[in-house]
Amino acid sequence: MFRKIKQIIDGGNKFLITTHIDPDGDAIGSCFSLYWALDGLQKNPFVYMRDRVPYMYEFLPKPTQLFYNEPPDGTYDGIFILDCGNFFRVGNGHERLKSQGPIINIDHHATSEKFGIINIINQNSSSTGEILYNIYDALMIPISYNIAVNLYTAIFTDTGSFRYPNTNSEAFLICEKMTKFGVSPAHVAQMVYENHPKERFVLLGEVLSSLETYENDTIALAVVTKEMFHKTNTAKEYTEGFVEFIKEIRGVNVAILMKELSDNQYKISMRSKGDTDVALICNHFGGGGHRNAAGCTINGSIIQIKDRLKEALTKP
Ligand code: 5GP
Ligand code: MN
Repeated sequence: MFRKIKQIIDGGNKFLITTHIDPDGDAIGSCFSLYWALDGLQKNPFVYMRDRVPYMYEFLPKPTQLFYNEPPDGTYDGIFILDCGNFFRVGNGHERLKSQGPIINIDHHATSEKFGIINIINQNSSSTGEILYNIYDALMIPISYNIAVNLYTAIFTDTGSFRYPNTNSEAFLICEKMTKFGVSPAHVAQMVYENHPKERFVLLGEVLSSLETYENDTIALAVVTKEMFHKTNTAKEYTEGFVEFIKEIRGVNVAILMKELSDNQYKISMRSKGDTDVALICNHFGGGGHRNAAGCTINGSIIQIKDRLKEALTKP
């Protein structure tokens, strides 16, 4: 099944690995695990991410060749784009990647575009980390601690600690295997979820004061403004987990966090419980994602955007 990938890895020496802007645990863990897998095969891998690693993932064993802002120049024997449903979401410099080497797209988003020469897209996989494990297994790539802890974190965070509907038996099986390579579940959980700077909670207080619910408390919405970031001396990465937090309200089916990017432009994060498909709604606004976790960017004032979201969520 992974014959073409095997040919590319066996026949090449220099590889680029990248993912989407605002990388999450699956994006980072997947890129870093593939870096260590290729490094272990004595290949020469590079990782490019448009945005920096958020503080909660800084404990992960990092590539020595890690580039931010712009992809490094040169040509590659393979360019792996991981966990990224749309080509443009690689960010700066993505256009020229197509002339820098063959693109291998590995992803689990339902809304994924087939922009690679090879596309391994499995929307039944819990995470991109799960697909990568299957590749390592098929190619008999030895698992080191550095590979294991990154893969574990990819799967652990993308399943919301094995709570979201994408949690499948493979997720448990692979994570259990990773503990055999030295991964401590308690350590990963503590680093990811119990290691926040105090300022995050001051920001959370501000954000919660904007909380509104609609449709008999089935939709919850909160806003983060640039002013709140400024006032609390925080930044975007401090909001990780906020949308999941308001989803914890009893009866809420859809939770929405609106993050101000610039005047009249907001990044929307949407989460749902059960069958409500937020990827479909975000797709309507030019975004995408998964059934229970999706996002998009919308232009307009807070009031205009709230109205458009309410309309999209309530129309039959
Ligand atoms: P988040 O809300 O954490 O940024 O994203 C949730 C999910 O939706 C992730 O799987 C992410 O890749 C996807 N996503 C978020 N924003 C966008 C977007 O603007 N376009 C697309 N296609 N997917 C998005
Ligand atoms: Mn993912």
